[in-house]
Amino acid sequence: MYNISLITGDGIGPELSESAIALLDTIHDKLGVKFNIEKLYAGDMALAKFGKALPDETLDSIKKSDACMKAPVGESAADVIVVLRRMLDLYANIRPAKSYPHMPALKDNIDLVIVRENTEDLYTGQEFEMEGVAVAFRIISEAASKKIAKYAFETARQRNQKKKVTCVHKSNVMRKTDGLFSKVCTSVAKEYPDIQFDQMYVDACAMNLIRKPESFDVIVTTNLYGDILSDESAEVVGGLGMAPAANIGDNFALFEPVHGAAFDIAGKGIANPSSFILSAKMMLEWLGTKHNDKKCLDVAQKIERAVFDVVKSGAKTRDIGGDKTTKEFTKEIISLL
Ligand code: ATP
Repeated sequence: MYNISLITGDGIGPELSESAIALLDTIHDKLGVKFNIEKLYAGDMALAKFGKALPDETLDSIKKSDACMKAPVGESAADVIVVLRRMLDLYANIRPAKSYPHMPALKDNIDLVIVRENTEDLYTGQEFEMEGVAVAFRIISEAASKKIAKYAFETARQRNQKKKVTCVHKSNVMRKTDGLFSKVCTSVAKEYPDIQFDQMYVDACAMNLIRKPESFDVIVTTNLYGDILSDESAEVVGGLGMAPAANIGDNFALFEPVHGAAFDIAGKGIANPSSFILSAKMMLEWLGTKHNDKKCLDVAQKIERAVFDVVKSGAKTRDIGGDKTTKEFTKEIISLL
């Protein structure tokens, strides 16, 4: 039995959470992987209700669980996810972008993953203002860069795709910070002679994600660049509605969509649940690997196959060119499990 903490979030978060619960309940009932799901508050709603975006009880429950699923939260995201990433040392943010059939995508042969450093860079939130000048600290450490570089090379090995890691930075301008990141990645690359290694400036990477996205395998980069490039890569394969993410540490992991709370479509029942359903797939993969649980790994593959087959059949939500509601689309996926 796996104890899953679930932050239901804001905006379209509760709708996506319903889809995830329906999915996990079906797996529990029919496929033999058992879950105990605990719904938790965090985000704008929690701030309004309890005066804290990340209430202590939520944090305690997350720490006691085997893994966390987090639906998107609204304006208070920095006080929830950025804090959780640092507090739980979830140092690797894994953001795959994969072509699915019949998508409004640029190309149909894309299969890349962005491995984003998740604990430092400009996202440590150390900003100051003095008389009309605002200053932010950018922190890049050798230790965190080494950890994420190793994670990226191990990912390239496991994926068995092009076996290539591209280190993305802007060291021609940010000589100290990005310079260090690039130097550490280059040094780690020497431990992985079986993996091809190249480097790219972040502006060139942004361009190449449009021009030749199929040429990438694993992209390793710093926190802010990774945040921006992963929204771009999601759009390249069909949109944010299809984009899952995993925040991984040595002992714990949290799974969430790449996108935000999408207030513009909240409450309408039209959000694409694939981002959260595919996040659940990543969770099963992580649990399966951690606990040597083959059933979990099999179910993870089944989920991805079901999403693939449903969109191939033409049943799609509005964002990817269809007319299915969140509930209808979820039902189609679940029926294929
Ligand atoms: P954040 O900065 O918190 O990541 P954002 O301002 O980038 O958020 P999002 O909430 O990510 O905005 O939404 C960007 C666009 O993508 C919106 O038009 C939204 O409706 C759309 N979108 C995001 N997620 C989904 C989804 N699951 N299904 C359909 N459309 C989505």
